[in-house]
Amino acid sequence: MPVIHSPDDPALDELCRRFSALAGDLDRGGAWPVEQLALCRDYGVLSWFFPAEFGGQGWDEADIVRGELKLSAACLTTMFILTQWAGACRRIVASENAALAARLAPHLLAGRTFATLGISHLTTSRRHLSQPALAAEEMPNGFRLNGLSPWVTGGRHAHTIVIGAELADRRRVLLALDTRWPGVRAGDDAPLIGLNASHTGPIYCDNVLVPRHDLIAGPSEDVMAGARGSNTGGLQTSTLAIGVAGAAVDFLFAEAERRADLLVPAGGLRAELLEVRGDLLAAALGEERCSTQDLRTRANSLVLRATQAALAAAKGTGYVVGHPAGRWCREALFFLVWSCPQQVMAANLCELAGLSE
Ligand SMILES: Cc1cc2nc3c(=O)[nH]c(=O)nc-3n(C[C@H](O)[C@H](O)[C@H](O)COP(=O)(O)OP(=O)(O)OC[C@H]3O[C@@H](n4cnc5c(N)ncnc54)[C@H](O)[C@@H]3O)c2cc1C
Repeated sequence: MPVIHSPDDPALDELCRRFSALAGDLDRGGAWPVEQLALCRDYGVLSWFFPAEFGGQGWDEADIVRGELKLSAACLTTMFILTQWAGACRRIVASENAALAARLAPHLLAGRTFATLGISHLTTSRRHLSQPALAAEEMPNGFRLNGLSPWVTGGRHAHTIVIGAELADRRRVLLALDTRWPGVRAGDDAPLIGLNASHTGPIYCDNVLVPRHDLIAGPSEDVMAGARGSNTGGLQTSTLAIGVAGAAVDFLFAEAERRADLLVPAGGLRAELLEVRGDLLAAALGEERCSTQDLRTRANSLVLRATQAALAAAKGTGYVVGHPAGRWCREALFFLVWSCPQQVMAANLCELAGLSE
């Protein structure tokens, strides 16, 4: 199988075609995407995210964004799972705990083990509650965990969960939780309105002792700062939203070939898509034309409108289960809730209420 060496590599387009062909069944069946993840391994997608010293291709952020735009347009569920995997891997290889990175990275890169993230309770979930969702107690040889991480994508398929926990003095730790440790239990997957094949659910920890050699970062108050990637301040959430919007706009143009009345709205959405995508790529290259929160707000707005425009164009046919337009609409709603910072949520709500300027 050809290894993808750049976002312009024809092998990436080939992989996207394979993902697109599988996306409808994946959405309807809800089974874990074993085949798609194996394809990611075989086409070398996993290696984009690992630096050369770990045997990866070490793509820069702009190339990763360009690759992810294509993959998310083809199959959001697989790309989303990959995002959580990549966020976990990034944090492991960026850790000052070099021994941990050396131990885990080769297996993750080869696709022999799967890793995911359980960090939302430190950022965007359960922040209004007085008690931490997952409490950590420092012990001489490690950290004892009690509680849960409420949203963990692919948690029951994972060997390692990069998990956050809070000490009584409010300092936090980030740990590589080995899911085989006694006391770790995956709860039932949440039944979702989209992305069901992501198998997202809670991970419970009942007196789990994580050895100190599995500490990724902390204890410190800003344990989430630093590593870019799958955090609320990163570009990945916007990238995936813009990817899905792109798929919807392409669909509109394909329809417009036979229906000239669609050309004006399709053109308007494409102009907006190109502008937002341009700002995204500029940010990935280090040139900040707008804040990441502004970008996310615009990406959320665009993906909701573009997917609904695709559904409107597809008419009743698009409302039948199995048509991609209906799936894109459900998937677009995910961006309203996934790792959504307070300011972005507030801006989205104002727009929905017709209050934006
Ligand atoms: C499909 C899916 C996959 C995900 N995958 C992952 C993953 O792999 N890893 C990860 O770390 N995270 C993941 N997340 C978590 C995600 O990024 C967000 O953290 C999550 O969507 C936040 O929603 P919440 O209901 O937990 O928010 P909360 O803020 O906990 O809100 C829960 C409820 O509390 C109430 N509430 C909210 N705020 C207040 C308030 N101020 N006062 C009183 N009541 C309030 C509301 O009624 C709300 O419905 C995933 C989420 C989804 C939906």
